[in-house]
Amino acid sequence: MDSNGVCAHIQAISSVKHPKQRVCEECIKIGSSWVHLRTCQECGVTLCCNDSPNKHATKHALKTHHPVIASAEPGERWLYCYPDDETVEY
Ligand SMILES: [Zn+2]
Ligand SMILES: [Zn+2]
Ligand SMILES: [Zn+2]
Repeated sequence: MDSNGVCAHIQAISSVKHPKQRVCEECIKIGSSWVHLRTCQECGVTLCCNDSPNKHATKHALKTHHPVIASAEPGERWLYCYPDDETVEY
């Protein structure tokens, strides 16, 4: 990963966490659906994106202050940092 000009949150990630299961862990509890999946790089939970009705990944980041998510979509290789509003491909 190119660490030039990347925020400290993303620089701190040495290996990207991938989804354990390809589901939103909150949506399956409430029987809801999602559009895309994101994996929290702090605790490894996989949750839904902002195009999804419940926006669980963003809610999780705001509540827990876990700063960085990765796309959990096949073929997508990027990280997003909430506090720095920064997206980095890896
Ligand atoms: Zn950051
Ligand atoms: Zn969800
Ligand atoms: Zn988390």
